[in-house]
Amino acid sequence: MIYLDSAATTKPCAETVAAVAEAMRDSFGNASSLHRMGIRSEKIITAAKKTLLSKLGEGDIIFTSGATESSNTAINGAADIYRRTGNRIVTTAIEHPSVANVMTRLEEKGFEVVRLAPKDHPDFVQALADAVDEHTLLLSCMAVNNETGYAVDVKRLYRLVKKKNPKTIVHIDAVQGFLKVPLEGDLISISGHKIHASKGIGALYIKKGIRITPLLLGGGQQKNLRSGTEPVEIIAGLDAAVRAYHGTAEHFSALKQRLLERLSSLSGITVNSGEDCLPNIVNFSVEGVRSEIMLHSLEEREIYVSSGSACSRGKTSGVLAAFGIPDKLADSAVRVSMCADTTAEDIDALVAGINAGIERFRR
Ligand code: PLP
Repeated sequence: MIYLDSAATTKPCAETVAAVAEAMRDSFGNASSLHRMGIRSEKIITAAKKTLLSKLGEGDIIFTSGATESSNTAINGAADIYRRTGNRIVTTAIEHPSVANVMTRLEEKGFEVVRLAPKDHPDFVQALADAVDEHTLLLSCMAVNNETGYAVDVKRLYRLVKKKNPKTIVHIDAVQGFLKVPLEGDLISISGHKIHASKGIGALYIKKGIRITPLLLGGGQQKNLRSGTEPVEIIAGLDAAVRAYHGTAEHFSALKQRLLERLSSLSGITVNSGEDCLPNIVNFSVEGVRSEIMLHSLEEREIYVSSGSACSRGKTSGVLAAFGIPDKLADSAVRVSMCADTTAEDIDALVAGINAGIERFRR
């Protein structure tokens, strides 16, 4: 089996599997319990927080069910608290639905939402910062796009936004960027299952001094910012995954280069992931073969890739259009996303599979 769909989800690493099993066996106490079993669980949570903060900076962490919950909490929670400072929200046209659909809801509630597309702005970071004015309460931008790998320099973005309006809260969806690119934000969403932890666990980083209202009300766990008994087992798994993560830019760059070289020997290939994209995600279109046809053709060889985004199954992705990719190319787009274990042989088998798909299905 050749798994090249790590942007959709990753295989849990051995360290995560071991940590989850161990916590399930030995540390199943409720972290709110006052006895020794509770304290043991609390320690696991504190250790996991420390690991995440070592990657994200000074502040606090709340554990969530995933990045969808993190971003819903961040955006709604900040809009709630900071609406006094303005009514305008700046975001992008390439966000994942977990951000984009929250923005639509806020728009319906009367917020002004401005969405910028990379295709319209050669200096996208500057354009986002320029769109911030004195009425802008929030800017939300992803660090790395899940469909193309397009990377935004969020450190520069943060600096420029704060220069324009220090009161504007910056939220970063860092699901595809965490552990891969430098990050900075007032609120940062991350997801466990994209970095070899399990599904069902995510986190929201909250910079020191930033306030939000909770999405979930209940027993007041996690400083009342996220009620519900903490899932200590999968928090232990997230901690283990972060510590074990070993993907490197060099490894991914070498594989991307190999992939592009080999693809260039096939006819009718358009690469949609340019120089401004992280090398672990490569999106390309195969002329005359629809995405789903190619996906299933590769699947017959036990090679797993995605068509566009796994989260927009069955729907045409407006995200590729926001990059200036025409519908015809989007219809035949294949997304290959790698992990630290991806090998050169995997890439060669993929290209052989693409070639076979073209010979069989190209119209
Ligand atoms: N944001 C991005 C960029 C993603 O790629 C995804 C998942 O595909 C999400 C958010 C949602 O993450 P989760 O599955 O943890 O809710």
